[in-house]
Amino acid sequence: SSGINAENISQFVSDMPLCMQRLMEGLQMNHHLRYGGRQELSLFLKGIGLNAEEALKFWQQQFTAAGPGSMTMEKFNKEYRYNFRHSYGLEGGHIRYKPWDCRTILSKPAPNKSEFHGCPYRDLRRGELSFQLQKLGLVDDTRLGEVLDLSEKGEYQTACTKVFELVNRDKIDSCLKQGLKVDESSIVHPNQYFDRSRYLDQ
Ligand code: SF4
Repeated sequence: SSGINAENISQFVSDMPLCMQRLMEGLQMNHHLRYGGRQELSLFLKGIGLNAEEALKFWQQQFTAAGPGSMTMEKFNKEYRYNFRHSYGLEGGHIRYKPWDCRTILSKPAPNKSEFHGCPYRDLRRGELSFQLQKLGLVDDTRLGEVLDLSEKGEYQTACTKVFELVNRDKIDSCLKQGLKVDESSIVHPNQYFDRSRYLDQ
């Protein structure tokens, strides 16, 4: 197993692409995510190895934790339990839903103000995206400007790939020095971003 569970999942946030970090943050802030966000994040989490039982525990904890937007366990069980079990193919037609790739994410309606789904390289305004990227540790103005320009030109996945390289530059160098292969292909899937980040931790 991946060793990822409801308790330790926050340790893996820095391995996630910006889209998923934003969803995790929105969830933590509001103790809730709207439909598009729940789908995008729950399938991603399934892809990184959070099993059905741990996923239910995770969402339950998030939705019922004390704070704004929080709900009772009863309400969670009545209104959301089915939804999350469904993402894992445990309800309904037992369909195995696959985690969404970037193309699928980009094909969905963009988020409105109170939503966190989508691709931030497309959906955030320049100032907000710049702020989020600085939070990731991107402080070099030139590099930051390059990523913002790529995003404005509609090259979202190229921007995301570049951010991955900038954020992980030291780890990439150290892997290369050890003679390890480093995948430099374009990011096309949030789970690919995550796996690539975990790989660099060896
Ligand atoms: Fe997420 Fe893909 Fe956008 Fe990167 S390019 S933030 S992985 S949707």
